Amino acid sequence: MLEQKKHFQLFANCIPVKGASRSIICDLQRNTYRFIPNLLYDILQKLQTHSVAEVKAAYHNEYDQGIDQYLGLLTKSEWGFWTNEPNRFPDISLEWNHPALITNAIIDSDAHSTHDYQKIQKELDLLGCKALEMRTYSPVPPTQLHSILRYFQLSRLQHLTITLPFSDEWSVSEITNLVNQFPRIIQLIFHSAPEDKVCKLPIETHASVLFIQKVIDNKHHCGIVHPIYFSPNLSHFTEAQSNNTCLNRKISIDEKGNIKNCPSMPKSYGNHKEISLLNALQKTSFKDSWQINKDQIDTCKDCEFRYICTDCRAYIQNPQNIFSKPKKCHYNPYSAQWESNSKENLQKNTPPSN
Ligand code: SF4
Repeated sequence: MLEQKKHFQLFANCIPVKGASRSIICDLQRNTYRFIPNLLYDILQKLQTHSVAEVKAAYHNEYDQGIDQYLGLLTKSEWGFWTNEPNRFPDISLEWNHPALITNAIIDSDAHSTHDYQKIQKELDLLGCKALEMRTYSPVPPTQLHSILRYFQLSRLQHLTITLPFSDEWSVSEITNLVNQFPRIIQLIFHSAPEDKVCKLPIETHASVLFIQKVIDNKHHCGIVHPIYFSPNLSHFTEAQSNNTCLNRKISIDEKGNIKNCPSMPKSYGNHKEISLLNALQKTSFKDSWQINKDQIDTCKDCEFRYICTDCRAYIQNPQNIFSKPKKCHYNPYSAQWESNSKENLQKNTPPSN
C-alpha cells in the first residue's frame, strides 16, 4: 500500500532521461529501459526533493490517481521504492574514466592490405586496448586468420569481434577450431553468406557466430543507428555524459594502413608502418572528436535515447557541421517516430537473432 507521507525514489541505477516528446528510464543494472510520459519525468524530478503528498499538492491534486498508479507500477517492477530517509540514498556518480589511453580499436583489411599485425598488437598493448574489431572485405582462409590471431594470443585484449566474408572453407569444424583456439573471440560475423542464420557450434562457447546474407564489402556499411544497437548499461551511459560514444578512446587502421579515428573518417594521422599508434594519438586534433557528446549534437540533444545510443561522426547529415545528427539515424524525437526506412535498414543490417 502506498503511504503518501513517505518519499518515493527510483533506485540509483534507474535514471530518467527526458526527450522532446517522451522520456525513458534507463535501468543500468538490468541493461534495459522503459518509456514514460514527460509529465511523469517532471514528477520524478520533483520527488527527488519533495514528498509524494507535496508533489501531488503542487499539481493541485489533479493527477493523484495517475501518480499513485505509476508509482505503484514502478514499485512493483522494482524500479523504485518508498522511504522516510531519502537522504540515505544518494545519486549514482555519472563520472566516467578508464585506466588506459585507448579502450577499443578497429582494423580494416582487404585483399591489398599489408598490415604488420605484430607491430599493431604490441602498440595496442602499450595503449591498454581491450577490445578489437577486425573487419575484412575480401576472403580470409582459416590458416591466414589463425596466423594473424596468433599475434594477439598473449595480448591485453579481452574482446575480439571479427567480420569476414563467408566462404566454403569456413566449415563448422573450422569455425569451432578457431573459437576454441582464440577464446577472446566474442563474435564472428560471416557476411555474404547463403542465408541469414545463427551458427550453432558443437561446443560450449561465449562466442556468437552469425551468418548474414548482406554483403559488407567496404567501410561505408558502418554508422547505422537503431534500437538493436542501444547500450543501456552503466559504462556506456556514464561515458556518454561527456564523451563521444563511438570515437572516445578509439583508434583505427583502415585497409590501406592509415591511422584514423574511424576507418570511415577522411583524416589520416599517418601510416601505421611509418608512425606508432602512440605518436599518432599524440598528434594535434586526434582527440578533438572524443568529447563531442550527444548533448551538443543537433536533434540528438532532444532525444530520450541520447545516453544509450552509439553516435557516428563519419556519416552526418551536414558534413560542414560536425555537430549535425548522424545521417543513418531515422528517429525523430519530436514525433517519437522511426521513419519507415528504418525497418528496411533493420532488415538489411541486423544479424539474425538466436
Ligand atoms: S536522434 Fe540521435 S540520440 Fe536519438 S536515436 Fe538518433 S542518433 Fe541516437
